[in-house]
Amino acid sequence: METFKQELIQMVVDITTEVKMNTGRMIFIKEDTIEIKEEKPKKEAKPKEPKEEISIESLTCPKCKSYLLKKGKTAYGCGNFQVCGFKIPFEFLGKQLNDKNVFDLLSKGRTAKIKGLAIPGNPEPVNAKLVMTGEFNFEVE
Ligand SMILES: [Zn+2]
Repeated sequence: METFKQELIQMVVDITTEVKMNTGRMIFIKEDTIEIKEEKPKKEAKPKEPKEEISIESLTCPKCKSYLLKKGKTAYGCGNFQVCGFKIPFEFLGKQLNDKNVFDLLSKGRTAKIKGLAIPGNPEPVNAKLVMTGEFNFEVE
């Protein structure tokens, strides 16, 4: 019985040591995590700018899905425009669309809200989103 008791005590000591060590490690891990979290947003904020660079002409035509888009004089159009007929005008409802607007239309099917759209029949300019319809036309949402 004596041997058993000693073994038991030894076991308890071992467990206690392990718990203490684990607790110690846990605290260190938490501290590390906090440090990393604090640094990350600062580092990520800067490289975002180059990602904003948009090349419409690297996108495939959404209608025929076969040709890259080309920049024309008044619109971006399908590389096979004669057959496909898809285009996005640079100017829509009196508003110059920027590359981000065009990119959003092509990739998401809608833009963010655009200010000052001149909608026929509306006396005041309207702030609205543009959407691409199922027929690859564009309209105000
Ligand atoms: Zn096309």
